[in-house]
Amino acid sequence: MQNAQTPKPSLTIPVGGSSNEYWRFERPVWNTDKCIRCGACYLACPDGAIVQTSEGYYDADPRLCKGCGICKQQCWTGCISLETCDQRPPWVVLVQKIIP
Ligand code: SF4
Ligand code: SF4
Repeated sequence: MQNAQTPKPSLTIPVGGSSNEYWRFERPVWNTDKCIRCGACYLACPDGAIVQTSEGYYDADPRLCKGCGICKQQCWTGCISLETCDQRPPWVVLVQKIIP
């Protein structure tokens, strides 16, 4: 029997943070040689994951970026590419194989 001081069981499984790095498969990479700093990518990101660097270029916050690629589609000078990445913990890989 539980009383007021009995802690409730938690269903949260710690993976070292709540970062999107733990489940996404791609991340955007900027080629600043082609970037004209128009900010279209920044405005297009649905997650507010793009930040401006001190030089006025743009980059994605790895904790917020989901790897959707919308920024790449919106960049009209073609300076954003998607790079494959996979930093999922082994237990997430296993669960995603069982429950695709
Ligand atoms: S890939 Fe998607 S979430 Fe990541 S910075 Fe680009 S638009 Fe934002
Ligand atoms: S949309 Fe392309 S050219 Fe414009 S700021 Fe973003 S990366 Fe640079």
